[in-house]
Amino acid sequence: MSNIRFEAIKLSMNHRAPGVQESATLCSEEKVKDYFARDVFTRERMKEYIAEEVLAALFDDVDNGRTIHREIAGIVAIGMRKWAMDRGATHFTHWFQPLTGGTAEKHDAFFTLKDGTLIEEFSGEALYQQEPDASSFPSGGIRNTFEARGYSAWDPSSPVFLIGDTLCIPTVFVAYTGEALDYKTPLIRSTASLCHAAREVCAYFDKQVKHVHANLGWEQEYFLVDEALYNARPDLLLTGRTLMGHLSAKNQQLGDHYFGAIPARVLAFMRELEYEALRAGVPVRTRHNEVAPNQFEMAPVYENVNLANDHNLLVMSIMERVAQRHHFRVLLHEKPFAGVNGSGKHCNWSIGTNTGINLLAPGKNPYQNLQFITFLVNVLMAVYKYNGLLKASIASATNEHRLGANEAPPAIISVFLGKQISAVLDKLEHASADEAIVINAKKEMKLGVANIPEILLDNTDRNRTSPFAFTGNRFEFRAVGSSANCGAAMLALNAAVAEQLLLFKQEVDSRIEQGQPKERALFEVIRQYIVSCKPIRFDGNGYSEEWKAEAARRGLNCETSVPVIFDQYLLPETVKMFEATGVLSEAELHSRCEVKWGTYNKKLQIESRVLGDLVLNHVLPAAKRYQTMLLQNVLAVKQVFTAEEVATLNARDYDIIRQIENHSCAILEGVEAMTEARHKANRQTDERSKAVAYHDCVLPLMAQIREHADALELIVDDEMWTLPKYRELLFTH
Ligand code: ADP
Ligand code: MG
Repeated sequence: MSNIRFEAIKLSMNHRAPGVQESATLCSEEKVKDYFARDVFTRERMKEYIAEEVLAALFDDVDNGRTIHREIAGIVAIGMRKWAMDRGATHFTHWFQPLTGGTAEKHDAFFTLKDGTLIEEFSGEALYQQEPDASSFPSGGIRNTFEARGYSAWDPSSPVFLIGDTLCIPTVFVAYTGEALDYKTPLIRSTASLCHAAREVCAYFDKQVKHVHANLGWEQEYFLVDEALYNARPDLLLTGRTLMGHLSAKNQQLGDHYFGAIPARVLAFMRELEYEALRAGVPVRTRHNEVAPNQFEMAPVYENVNLANDHNLLVMSIMERVAQRHHFRVLLHEKPFAGVNGSGKHCNWSIGTNTGINLLAPGKNPYQNLQFITFLVNVLMAVYKYNGLLKASIASATNEHRLGANEAPPAIISVFLGKQISAVLDKLEHASADEAIVINAKKEMKLGVANIPEILLDNTDRNRTSPFAFTGNRFEFRAVGSSANCGAAMLALNAAVAEQLLLFKQEVDSRIEQGQPKERALFEVIRQYIVSCKPIRFDGNGYSEEWKAEAARRGLNCETSVPVIFDQYLLPETVKMFEATGVLSEAELHSRCEVKWGTYNKKLQIESRVLGDLVLNHVLPAAKRYQTMLLQNVLAVKQVFTAEEVATLNARDYDIIRQIENHSCAILEGVEAMTEARHKANRQTDERSKAVAYHDCVLPLMAQIREHADALELIVDDEMWTLPKYRELLFTH
């Protein structure tokens, strides 16, 4: 009988990196600067296709966040089509980010029929707005209650690009009534809100600041698995993670994978991935092995948050395509393998001004430093107030397996500042206003408490256990999951900080109105904040049991059940914050939660079904076959040896036969209980109760069943085992 596992292993052994002859990328001698953004309709390139005055109007509107005039869209569309067709494109698509995760596209050809004659066409209308058949995208009830239609609408702030023969147009996706049905819409709103608030606060320090933007530098972690082995694991195929599998004897104990030499076949994949990403305008720069075997990371240079997020989603889809060409499958799941590290997507976030100042970096003069402290402390306040919401923004059925495990950020949001910045805040807290801020005879300000410019940005002062860490000139939100749309986390952070900055401004202004000098007013409010947000600061070991207890005492959100964490979106203060900043309405928040709970349920339902199938149809038959073999052997031994000899000869066999029996029974009982629990969960009438039932009653049974299946994997004859084992999945490349 052929064993699918061995077939897969045989196939995987023949998978090699494509030779130089087969890969255009690998033999290309072009320099990066020659092909970077070749497939993007950049501003530079637009000049070749669109009249100067039209572009001036377009850029002015885009840069100032104004709606583009339809007439302008019409002219731009003509240039866009020309460029795309010059590059061999035949189709275009609106490219959007529905709440399912990932991206959605529907291709249309660049032509229409007029009186039976084919004419090439791409109208301003087609660029501006489309009405995809939206009924299958999740809306969390929004469309049922209002209108069934959904629109995708051009986001001119993110350039269009080519993928193969298709022109991709980044778009927002909204309901007929204007409610957001995607991640991009609220992300753009949140950036606008943050920029407005930050500009208001910047005005205390520098009147030249006209525009503020938020930056994002993501670090995408992922696993690669050989395609043949992947195809032999129904759980990877259907759920993106292994639902069972005994830990390999060697995994990541030796720490020999992190930053190790990149295996040749993987490097060939990375090169082609980078080539494609760079052509699409994604400035990817960093690549390395991650901690777990077969785990890797890629990171670009940071960009404005909307563009960076588009680029991340684009890279995620390029990865999947390129991986297939190399006979790999890329796993973006947060926890594809138990017992080794999971994958995250650290989001490096900062805010910068049109004058070139990074508001989260220490500056060159006392004003810039007071500004830095102001923004730093306001971020701390926002994260403190909304620590539960920020956790909700990164929570999902898949990230749940990563959070709280010992190699991933803990399920409690706290902020790591490092020794030097902590010392500055401690000094400010205890200084008097006169000590802290000295204005000399020439009306120059001096910060009397700390010489901030001399703060060494010590990169080694890092805390890998912190979910939200200050790293010298930015915050690194480390809890975001590898499969997530970063938009969810970024929009929550942007909105929370925006609200906080406006509040800060109100408090400072009211002190100034009461006659306090500006610097003193700023200092007093900052000091107050330093005191109130203290509970969020934690530089210790986020994995320790003591921290869990301490965090609870500090009043930080310690909830670990994902369906319950989602409640954070609907707390009165959250709704108020999102409405005040114009980022999400109450109806949108409700719809988002519905989608989140619904997705959670569907994912767990699928996982539970797949696990049932795996253990009943793969594990138990193999176990039974091996047990039968042992039983036959026992009988045969009895015929040849004396009773006395048999007792010692068969001791191990008896024991294994019994173990197989026990584990098999436990699995059968477990599957029955799990199925019953699933049915019970499905009978709940609302998505939240269903999700809670899946979390509380189905998930634990899945873990129990897995334990028995993994135990059987260790016992059963290797040749009879049909599912590729961890050692094969993790060490084949
Ligand atoms: P790490 O050492 O944290 O793994 P990486 O080099 O992998 O660092 O990634 C760091 C990311 O942070 C990159 O995307 C980089 O462009 C980004 N980054 C650097 N400075 C800033 C900044 N000021 N704001 C936002 N992102 C930044
Ligand atoms: Mg990194």
